[in-house]
Amino acid sequence: CGARNFWCMLKQNKLSTYLKRGAISYDSSDQTALYIRMLGDVRVRSQVGFEPERRSSHPYLFIDFRTLHSKYESHSVPERRLHRLLSCQRYLHSSRLLRGVPQQIPLHILDEDYTGQARCMLEKVGNWNFDIFLFDRLTNGNSLITLTFHLLNHYGLVELFQLDLVKLWRFLVMVQEDYHSGNPYHNAVHAADVTQAMHCYLQEPMLAKSLTSYDILLGLLAAATHDLDHPGVNQPFLIKTDHYLATLYRNTSVLENHHWKSAVGLLRETGLFSHLPPEDSLNVERDLGSLILATDISRQNEYLTRFRTHLDQNNLCLINASHRHFILQMALKCADICNPCRPWELSKQWSEKVTEEFFQQGDIEKKHKLEVSPLCDRETNTVGDIQIGFMAYVAEPLFAEWTRFSDTRLSQTMLGHMGLNKASWSSLQQEQTSIPAAPSHLMITFCLFLLLLPPLLINH
Ligand SMILES: [Zn+2]
Repeated sequence: CGARNFWCMLKQNKLSTYLKRGAISYDSSDQTALYIRMLGDVRVRSQVGFEPERRSSHPYLFIDFRTLHSKYESHSVPERRLHRLLSCQRYLHSSRLLRGVPQQIPLHILDEDYTGQARCMLEKVGNWNFDIFLFDRLTNGNSLITLTFHLLNHYGLVELFQLDLVKLWRFLVMVQEDYHSGNPYHNAVHAADVTQAMHCYLQEPMLAKSLTSYDILLGLLAAATHDLDHPGVNQPFLIKTDHYLATLYRNTSVLENHHWKSAVGLLRETGLFSHLPPEDSLNVERDLGSLILATDISRQNEYLTRFRTHLDQNNLCLINASHRHFILQMALKCADICNPCRPWELSKQWSEKVTEEFFQQGDIEKKHKLEVSPLCDRETNTVGDIQIGFMAYVAEPLFAEWTRFSDTRLSQTMLGHMGLNKASWSSLQQEQTSIPAAPSHLMITFCLFLLLLPPLLINH
């Protein structure tokens, strides 16, 4: 009868085109064998879950992944496990509050206070000035789990897709843990920030009136997983150090392919969609991949040109599933690089974090006598330089097209913040030095960053 309810719900929603067949398949006994066979390229976990040691097996020539950002690594293994237990406990505690069940004696007065404040923040999760850093502190470092879980519930996706709450929770905990907390930028807070931005875009009239529940589910899952297991270094670094991922993905969208495959690994391990017909869960995995792969910044021009052509010809038709998917790709790309469009206090923190990650890569390159990648040398670049260039050559062109597509108050707010942030960085630059960086220098650096693709770099 569960299956009948499910199909009734599907008929009432826009999902009928997505799931056509009238049966739900449950876990088959050879699920594990299938998983191992299909995921030969993705690490396989043990029954106990997270294994920090596995990262030591990456066959770098001479660099140990674990030490890349070691000075930021704050959790030892026992602490991480405790952290997971605490977060589950916190979830059980807070879910009673969310369901409106009367409280008994609070587990801890401080927990109760923080949970209450986090809950208040979630009421305004659609605000563009949502402070994800504060939210992360209030949730004890569980912003990604809490936010994604809240949004999936908010859109009614848990009920509609009959997601098993235990599987979903396990999936989200694993996703959050597979982000490297030692990365200054590419960590779970960035993923939570992108998911929050995605939610804001999903509210925009152009999207809200046309997206199906399946599109929304996909958009949120892609945002939450889009940088999964990011090593804190970029693709050229992986190529020049002969990292196995670079070989595996033939030097093409190496990181994005890995993020996607990691997400698929967690979906299969937790069986989040194992109640769907195999064909449909494979479609989810494929569509998730197509969204995550769109975040490859070296393919920015390709997407931007296509977007521009659609807008010039005014031929985007959001009844068409492939056009909706393209808009989701563009929305995720915007969400991924929306830092310059946030209010200064938030934007500045992101700028410092991303620059620190670049500079740490540069430090490692210098230490190992490798050529220092563009924008990664702390001796010749500044946070302001990098930000001004990033806005001028990457963010502004993208958000200009996005505003053509969705000319709303939010889009104007984002452009407004970007203008103000650019001016703030410029004036800070001028305070620090009387010789501002020449635009031509910045342009060359960013062309290098975006256009000199890794195969070119290694062939020369
Ligand atoms: Zn990202």
